[in-house]
Amino acid sequence: MSFHTLALLIEEADRRYPLETGGALIGYWGDAVTAVVTQVVGPGPASDHQPYSYQHDHLWEASQIALHYKQSGRSHVYIGDWHTHPDATFGDLSGTDRQVTRQLIKSREARTVHPLMAVLFGRPGHWDSAIWVAALKPRWGFCSRLSLEPAKLQLFDAAEGQAN
Ligand SMILES: [Zn+2]
Repeated sequence: MSFHTLALLIEEADRRYPLETGGALIGYWGDAVTAVVTQVVGPGPASDHQPYSYQHDHLWEASQIALHYKQSGRSHVYIGDWHTHPDATFGDLSGTDRQVTRQLIKSREARTVHPLMAVLFGRPGHWDSAIWVAALKPRWGFCSRLSLEPAKLQLFDAAEGQAN
């Protein structure tokens, strides 16, 4: 992810503080362990911002994702979601977040089976980030288990950076 892209996320986080906000991450997987975030999509007009919850405007996000897909010559796709946890001291996903992530992977229109879930936590002037690579792992005799692997954020000067 580029410094510029992270700055856009922080700007949006500041603007809505103390309410949550979020959107979608667009880019591509450079290799099995490297996702490159090329663009971020902010909240749509129908998104709902609350102090402890955030509802994505999925229709609006889908239109933005389609637009970037077209503009990038069909190379930049939806790779995950991002949202904020104002005043949180860590970036773990909440129970609701996990449920949403599970549905996201299982939904018919899912664009990825291993979405990145990025959480910006903190407050204006003190935002930190946690990024998770989500996947559903089959479990014998039970419904699948949601696995969340922490990912490392790498920042680059260029317009196109790499987030591991
Ligand atoms: Zn959350």
